[in-house]
Amino acid sequence: MKSGDRERVLRADKRHLWHPYTAMARYIEETNPLVVARAAGSRLYDVDGRAYIDGNASWWTSLLGHNHPRLVEALRDQASALCHTSLAGVTHEAAALFAEELVRVAPPGLTRVFLSDNGSTAVEAAIKLCVQYWAQNGAPERTRFVSLKGAFHGETLGVSALGGMPEFRAPFEPLLFDCAHLASPADDLEVALGELERELEAHAARTAAIVLEPLVQGASGMRIYDKAYLVRARELADRFGVLLVLDEVFTGYGRTGPMWAADHASVVADVLCSAKGLSGGLLPFAATLTTERIFAGFLGSDSRAFFYGHTFAGNPLGARVAREVLAVYREEGILEQARPKARRLQEGFAKLARLDHVKNVRTLGMIAALDLAGGKGYLERSGWRVYEEALRRGAYVRPLGQVVYLTPPLNIPDTDLDELLEIVHASVLAVASG
Ligand SMILES: *Cc1c(COP(=O)(O)O)cnc(C)c1O
Repeated sequence: MKSGDRERVLRADKRHLWHPYTAMARYIEETNPLVVARAAGSRLYDVDGRAYIDGNASWWTSLLGHNHPRLVEALRDQASALCHTSLAGVTHEAAALFAEELVRVAPPGLTRVFLSDNGSTAVEAAIKLCVQYWAQNGAPERTRFVSLKGAFHGETLGVSALGGMPEFRAPFEPLLFDCAHLASPADDLEVALGELERELEAHAARTAAIVLEPLVQGASGMRIYDKAYLVRARELADRFGVLLVLDEVFTGYGRTGPMWAADHASVVADVLCSAKGLSGGLLPFAATLTTERIFAGFLGSDSRAFFYGHTFAGNPLGARVAREVLAVYREEGILEQARPKARRLQEGFAKLARLDHVKNVRTLGMIAALDLAGGKGYLERSGWRVYEEALRRGAYVRPLGQVVYLTPPLNIPDTDLDELLEIVHASVLAVASG
């Protein structure tokens, strides 16, 4: 792409494109956005050929870096044979073998794989699965859900009911189904444990499921919590006969260290949702896994079929790439590679913790986050000043309000990681002194 193309792109963009999670008046008037032309490894390149280290792996998806040659090759290969067919009474190699290979790396007992398009649909399918399961297995009154304050489970109206970020919920509040938003263990573990137990004691008989982001509430600011909460949630779910849904859309595929965040606590969900890293950041693709017990609840007469399915469910391109992602994890030892990198990331953030205006430094696996002193919340601007400084220095570090965080690819070269950490350090300092 030639550099003159920048103007052409921006003219069309500002006239017609509506960007996600973007205040468009400010964007149109003030923002000089990064115009990305290509990407490779841990870097994005703009139309003028400038490189930026991708500090958040493109919204947490490119766990193997951008354009991993094996993934691109798998995509090409699949595209030349079969780009799409529905999964309605039809099957194909890519989807079937992906399901088999995913089950092999999934927590024990999760042996049934339902495919969809993205993180939101993976959770939406989980909700409908739970509700329909109870409806046709003797407990139709179980329609209430339990989630956490600060939870984020995606964008559809269904999962918006589970979401506990006030900014995102507010406009839709009158339309959302019954869901209790309990105190988060990221704020106070004891309070959260008490609230969960009291909630189930009072309402278990009409509760379908507890839905959690295991160990890290990502979108509300990389809020990390104690695994004791997950262990207790599993115990209470069993005691009260409620299902446990774990949303591993962000935390899965080794983001927190082990393959699944729930592995830290040796907890197995009844339903597990996976997306983002599942397709290596190449294509929208997602999976909702469940047990033989839940699956059996949909057998019998035809009217018991799971009434859910997107047009592109099990799309062959996505499925083939997702298979190749698993092969790369196995053959390149991605989780092992990431372990020393996670320590490097942690050490880099330990240095940042010494700065006056930095608070609450926290890390888990390949996640590191800090709060800038001052105001709090998704709409807070302080993180954006660090973003601007970092962009000037060659890194893309989109914040969450006052939270500056890094979620780089798990295989980021050490030299790139060191450079990224230096840029964040310099950018935080520049904002504090500027
Ligand atoms: C990103 C995310 C989702 C939504 O995924 P999309 O692909 O954006 O629809 C759901 N749950 C969690 C925990 C996420 O981080």
